[in-house]
Amino acid sequence: MKFDTKVVRAGISPDPSTGAIVPPIYQSATYVLEEVGKDKGYDYTRASNPTREILENNLASLDGGKYGICFSSGMAAVDSVMKILKAGDHVVCSDDVYGGVSRMYNNLIVNYNISFSYVNSSDPQKVEDAILDNTRLIWIETPTNPLLKVTDLDAVGKIAKKHGILYGVDSTFSTPSLLRPLEYGADITMHSTTKYLSGHNQIIGGVLITNNDELNEKFKFIQKSVGAVPSPFDCWLTLLGIKTLSLRMQRHCENAQAIAQFLEDHPQVEKVTYPGLPSHPQYDIAKTQMEGYSGMISMELKGGIPAGISLMNSLNLCSLAESLGAVETMITHPATMTHADVPKDERLARGLTDGLVRLSVGIEDKLDIIEDLSQALE
Ligand code: PLP
Repeated sequence: MKFDTKVVRAGISPDPSTGAIVPPIYQSATYVLEEVGKDKGYDYTRASNPTREILENNLASLDGGKYGICFSSGMAAVDSVMKILKAGDHVVCSDDVYGGVSRMYNNLIVNYNISFSYVNSSDPQKVEDAILDNTRLIWIETPTNPLLKVTDLDAVGKIAKKHGILYGVDSTFSTPSLLRPLEYGADITMHSTTKYLSGHNQIIGGVLITNNDELNEKFKFIQKSVGAVPSPFDCWLTLLGIKTLSLRMQRHCENAQAIAQFLEDHPQVEKVTYPGLPSHPQYDIAKTQMEGYSGMISMELKGGIPAGISLMNSLNLCSLAESLGAVETMITHPATMTHADVPKDERLARGLTDGLVRLSVGIEDKLDIIEDLSQALE
């Protein structure tokens, strides 16, 4: 199947008992055995659930993977990757990861004697230079949240292979519609399904995708042992959302490109970062490895924090909200919202200035979004 067919069809067949075209929500905690030792493939929903399994197969197929393992949030998926490490291990990580990821690493995971080096992974040499004898994992986010730094996945994949280190990619901002990290040598692709995959601000969820049998066994074991699993209803809502992923991503990309250009030309805007603008430092890499530049834009306003606050408080259509990747256009102030838990010194060192504003461009008519931004910038 081609990608646009997979989003509608992969892993989904008519329900065997009724022919229902939409998979049923198997809202059951447990399953009755026919006799001792004989079940129908399911015994307890923490371990497996038919609705979840359909979603897992669909997501695996979209990313070109053999296995998908779903979790109750993107963070639960990230945590499950941490659980395959051991005390004494070291991780090389992109320096501009989502604030919740660095919060987990720096405040929780370090307590288990796992250490982290943060590097600007847009320069693959910096990734290689940070590798130590005990490095077990390279964790890349591309494009990053919120600075939209792009990493050359092929170059980092070769480094990971050369050193025999596991390679994981948080591909939440790209989605499998625009980028499939397993094709570039990643062992693990991770998504917060809360974002573009479900697409309508209707659920919180996460997924890990891999082709590696051993990793799949480990992640299934962690999923069953810890139980951070999505509800059958959330899986069903995610499946419904995915059916329009290709159409939505086309529109997100088209709208974001137009809005990034509008902002870049606006006299009140100091700087616009969007991987689809030739001014983006990794524009050439983004152009080679992505099939579109997604819907995320970050910008710095002239006039710093007061200008940023004034803009956000003056918008009528764009919603001032934490999340991203949904049909509604949303605007965020990372310093006080998504990255508020990153200490100020560290935040500024990472380039997350107080005046930075992040825009998640939705699928409304782009002229309405531009009109709203325009009146708010005035
Ligand atoms: N990874 C990225 C890039 C994110 O933007 C987020 C959330 O914003 C997460 C992971 C965490 O996902 P969730 O909020 O579903 O736990």
